[in-house]
Amino acid sequence: MKPGVRSGEGTMGGRLRLATVWLDGCSGCHMSLLDMDELLLELAPRLELVYSPLVDRKDFPAVVDVTLLEGAVSNEDDRRKALLVRERSRLVVALGDCAVTANVPGLRNPLAAEAVLEQVYRRQAVNPEGIMPARQVPLLLPRCLPLHQVIEVDIFLPGCPPPSPAIVRALTTLLEGGNPAELPALKFG
Ligand code: SF4
Repeated sequence: MKPGVRSGEGTMGGRLRLATVWLDGCSGCHMSLLDMDELLLELAPRLELVYSPLVDRKDFPAVVDVTLLEGAVSNEDDRRKALLVRERSRLVVALGDCAVTANVPGLRNPLAAEAVLEQVYRRQAVNPEGIMPARQVPLLLPRCLPLHQVIEVDIFLPGCPPPSPAIVRALTTLLEGGNPAELPALKFG
């Protein structure tokens, strides 16, 4: 465990380089992030948002201090993204219950993806040839996985979504060199 990235240790003019990513989620966790309202303005001078669905940047940067990762790992594309994020981020935060436990996207696990695809594409003949999608969409993993089963996670922020004050407290604690996992109120979202 390595939480504690003080403001000033970041590589972008002393500001903490923050990224946010979503995998298989509903974007509700990102909405909670935006719900910080005016607190965002307080944090803004100490953060540099270097990658996010909220900004127009296509490539994940080579060096990131903290990445907030929403959503579970459902397909090959998610898996590749999660590995890249891990490789390039000093700290990875599993943001919300889908990242922490697989939650909603994980509801498909008992159904078995292969059987569902077979039913939809072959037996119900969604397309006349009964062809399963394999090229234009990423291949589904047999099971939808919580993030920690794919990469090492440094901090878990549970909740569906995690309340905005919990995200603010976690970021503030990190900026001050502390470990958000040690905040009792954050352990249970
Ligand atoms: Fe949406 Fe809840 Fe999953 Fe967040 S944890 S992505 S709010 S379903």
